[in-house]
Amino acid sequence: RAAGGDPSPPSRRLTVLSGPSGVGKSTVVAELRRSHPEVWLSVSVTTRKPRPGETHGVEYFFADDAEFDRLISSGELLEWAEFAGNRYGTPRRPVLEMLAAGTPTLLEIDLQGARQVRATMPEALLVFLAPPSWEELERRLRGRGTEPPDVIARRLEVGRDEMAAEKEFDLTLVNTSVKDVCRRLITLMGNSPS
Ligand code: 5GP
Repeated sequence: RAAGGDPSPPSRRLTVLSGPSGVGKSTVVAELRRSHPEVWLSVSVTTRKPRPGETHGVEYFFADDAEFDRLISSGELLEWAEFAGNRYGTPRRPVLEMLAAGTPTLLEIDLQGARQVRATMPEALLVFLAPPSWEELERRLRGRGTEPPDVIARRLEVGRDEMAAEKEFDLTLVNTSVKDVCRRLITLMGNSPS
């Protein structure tokens, strides 16, 4: 129905988890994947090279620039952004299918992507994952050991801007404990904790 201002219930089940690089978003998502398989986690496409232990189709779909260009021009991405020299995007169709089926759906994306979702799907719940402190975030970024120093420097710079974006979100979860963040997310998404 096109008339009326009622938000459609399924899209309220779309939750976006965002926050500065290094805050622990992917750790939270990995824990959710393990403990709450009933939550559907969107798998993004990226032009970044796989890190050790990452599997095509699990953490990401890895694509080259030409393929990413094609996904953009054919409108297959719900949102996309360039982050620290690589591109990342959310395939549109699986998200819409999951929402139509009433499945709780989570996107773990950067701030630019969260803004795009805010604009195109205003009913989505935007959750900001914050570090216990800026010092802690810096320590985590430097300690990751998977990126060269210039990449870490770029990510720190982006992270400072991202911290300022907290006020644009519906709510903040402070990442003091991964399990605690997962519990709160599950409650927010309307599921009973298991
Ligand atoms: P990483 O390279 O560390 O896996 O991810 C870098 C950043 O890209 C993280 O902040 C992550 O949330 C974000 N990201 C991952 N997938 C997507 C996506 O599909 N869209 C957007 N906009 N950002 C994403």
